[in-house]
Amino acid sequence: MNVNYIDQEYQKMLEDGSLQDLPRDYVFRFECPPACMGLCCKHIEIFLDPWDVEVLARHLGITGREFIAAYGTYSLGAEWRWPNVLLRHAAEGKCAFLLDDGKCRVYPARPRNCRAYPLGRAVRFREGDPPRVEEKLFLLHRMEGCQGHRSPRQWTVQEWLVASDLQRYHELSDLHLQLIHYAVHELESRKWMHLGTAQVMLPFLYAPEVLRARLNIPETAVGHEEFYRRRMQALKVLLTEVAAGLGYGPGAVGAGQSQAAPEESLIDRLRPVLVDGE
Ligand code: SF4
Ligand code: SF4
Repeated sequence: MNVNYIDQEYQKMLEDGSLQDLPRDYVFRFECPPACMGLCCKHIEIFLDPWDVEVLARHLGITGREFIAAYGTYSLGAEWRWPNVLLRHAAEGKCAFLLDDGKCRVYPARPRNCRAYPLGRAVRFREGDPPRVEEKLFLLHRMEGCQGHRSPRQWTVQEWLVASDLQRYHELSDLHLQLIHYAVHELESRKWMHLGTAQVMLPFLYAPEVLRARLNIPETAVGHEEFYRRRMQALKVLLTEVAAGLGYGPGAVGAGQSQAAPEESLIDRLRPVLVDGE
């Protein structure tokens, strides 16, 4: 069983064992020359995961909700039936953050996929609690017209991971992928996920300010990275409960039995996770 968010081609290679993991001391050449003017940013579709949205919204000084309204396209993904956010493009097809001089307006906060290229990463989760993460790093196919590979600048894989702050992005992104894995495989969420449920999930995934305001949790009490971790954990609890009510997952009641209605509101039931990190 696995969940991953890479191209079908790489996913297939991961499955059949032909995807080779690059050693961390593997050396490659890459640097974007100024003359390129952000060619790849003009024809690219970028999925944003919750950590991407969080970093970008904070960089721009807006809330997660405002970010999605202004720069994201939200939908329920066809494959996993999971709430997705795609980085919105300007009408002429280029990324909304590409400046006229070819620079990225949000470079320090650019999404994981932008900071990773030309390095690709395939992930799958093996059985276990928590599931065991298996990752493979590889060089993506060269984009047509990309001049970065002609640069003399050399990197080891490890140097690239550090310079792009990718290890932290990977760790936090994996918490989200683990959640999808759990929902899809343990809770069979593809059978019952619909837009209404996805709407309830939105503050946990993309709009932490809503939860902070509801529960009065200032950033001085719980820092934003720790709150992200708690949101993913709270969403697991929430989804387990929703699934149980529909007869799926570990909390499902047996046939003919009815589930007692909880006395506390949903947000109060999640309070220990979000406020106290329990
Ligand atoms: S966010 Fe920045 S690096 Fe990524 S596609 Fe947009 S302009 Fe390019
Ligand atoms: S990755 Fe390649 S196409 Fe994109 S800006 Fe760099 S050099 Fe240009």
